[in-house]
Amino acid sequence: MLQIRPSCECCNIDLPPDSTHARICTFECTFCSDCADGILAGICPNCGGELVVRPRRPAQKLSKYPASAERIHKPGGCAHL
Ligand SMILES: [Zn+2]
Ligand SMILES: [Zn+2]
Repeated sequence: MLQIRPSCECCNIDLPPDSTHARICTFECTFCSDCADGILAGICPNCGGELVVRPRRPAQKLSKYPASAERIHKPGGCAHL
């Protein structure tokens, strides 16, 4: 099951479970569409894998299968590219 992390690792913007702007890699490194399509050019800076649109979890499933609340932010982590 996806963790559905709450924020972009690059810019720390909120990415709620119903966001259409969330992008993830196969390890669920999570970014917003601005970072993924911009500075990252569609490639995860952590693992080198491709970033794809994160599927949205239907609201009625979130109470039973809640999204992760753990924010992962790597200041400067995307500046190396
Ligand atoms: Zn971002
Ligand atoms: Zn990754």
